[in-house]
Amino acid sequence: MPDLPATDPAGTPAAEDAAPRDTSPCDTAPRDTAMSGSAAWAALGAAGHLARVYRGGDVRRGIDVDGLADVLATADARWSVPATLSASVQLATALPVLATGTGPAVEHVLTRALSGTATLALAATDTTAGTDLTALRTEAAVDATGVVVTGGKEWITNATTAESFLVLARHRPGRHFANFTWVLVPADAPGVAVRPARSALYAGSGAGHVSFDAVRLGREHLVGRVGFGLPVFARHIAVERLAGALWGVALCRRVLDGTRRRLTGREHREGTLWSRGHVRQRFAAALVRVRELHALTERSAPAVAGHYDLQAAATLKAAAGTTVPYVLGECAHLWGAAGFADGGMQEIRAQAALFGIGGGTTEVVLETVAEGAERVLGDLGREVLPL
Ligand SMILES: Cc1cc2nc3c(=O)[nH]c(=O)nc-3n(C[C@H](O)[C@H](O)[C@H](O)COP(=O)(O)OP(=O)(O)OC[C@H]3O[C@@H](n4cnc5c(N)ncnc54)[C@H](O)[C@@H]3O)c2cc1C
Repeated sequence: MPDLPATDPAGTPAAEDAAPRDTSPCDTAPRDTAMSGSAAWAALGAAGHLARVYRGGDVRRGIDVDGLADVLATADARWSVPATLSASVQLATALPVLATGTGPAVEHVLTRALSGTATLALAATDTTAGTDLTALRTEAAVDATGVVVTGGKEWITNATTAESFLVLARHRPGRHFANFTWVLVPADAPGVAVRPARSALYAGSGAGHVSFDAVRLGREHLVGRVGFGLPVFARHIAVERLAGALWGVALCRRVLDGTRRRLTGREHREGTLWSRGHVRQRFAAALVRVRELHALTERSAPAVAGHYDLQAAATLKAAAGTTVPYVLGECAHLWGAAGFADGGMQEIRAQAALFGIGGGTTEVVLETVAEGAERVLGDLGREVLPL
């Protein structure tokens, strides 16, 4: 099995600013932060790592939590935040949603994506507000012979590199949950146009916008049953939220580790920055938050991976969406001016703000948490002993 490509041995976040590296096995992986998401995906596929994310290597059997955590931690250790996002969306959502379909068109794309030969974009967010999904305008006109897709999607990871788009479209007007259907649209089909998002922060993920001008396809491009688009999305976005929490723990751990090495190596008065009480406490507070996220992730993972528990997934997303930006903000501050170097902590901090937005903003997932408040409070209760 070939190993992943090894290039730049840069530390976190800028080699010239980093303190001497320790020998922790987690931190010996060479980093190549210039690697694109599609190249990272190809490397994971070539190394045989993509299949380990699924039980028995079969995407239709569901997520193997340890496998997913290992692959995300590997991507995070070696590549940039955008490159890891590119892999995460495909592993947790795009491939499992595609696998709800059958037929030659679906199997062809699934095989190519699972081997790392091709990337697949998941295009749910429309030209309308992403937090108002049932208002999406992209249409799939379905008849006995096929489907015609018309509309547009914005801020889609892997858009500029994808061989195919998995498009959430409406086959009927109105907000009812049964009005939506997935369609597999080849990127080279007549009527498809892609333009990159103007984002230096996320260019490496292939982020872009795509429009569909009466794209005509055969019925084999319908993925799953007509009208089941939204329930399928809800199930699999739960797994994306778990993936975000697993990745968030790995990212915070790596950044905290790099920051600790920076602080312990940076001379200050008679000691180092690490010897300053306020610095240590600030760091420790961030460490506590990561441990909380880690504990919650461990506790919730079986329910999300096993039966798509939407409440547990929303809770995880709300936690990751606040913890990751907090921890990276604290670390960026502790890097001082060096944090502003190209590719430095301030850039990573800005990229990590996506944890509170992509795949469900913090406000939206907190609404879901609030809906389940009664159950959560019940779960926290203990028997009051008679006196
Ligand atoms: C780098 C990147 C990659 C992405 N990749 C993908 C992808 O691969 N596939 C895909 O489908 N989408 C993708 N997205 C889109 C992402 O899922 C959306 O950005 C997200 O769902 C939020 O939608 P929006 O940006 O339209 O925000 P809006 O809907 O415009 O909301 C803006 C803000 O309004 C506030 N708000 C909204 N609703 C509420 C509410 N109910 N209560 C309180 N406040 C609220 C929140 O503060 C929110 O951040 C990506 C986005 C980025 C930036």
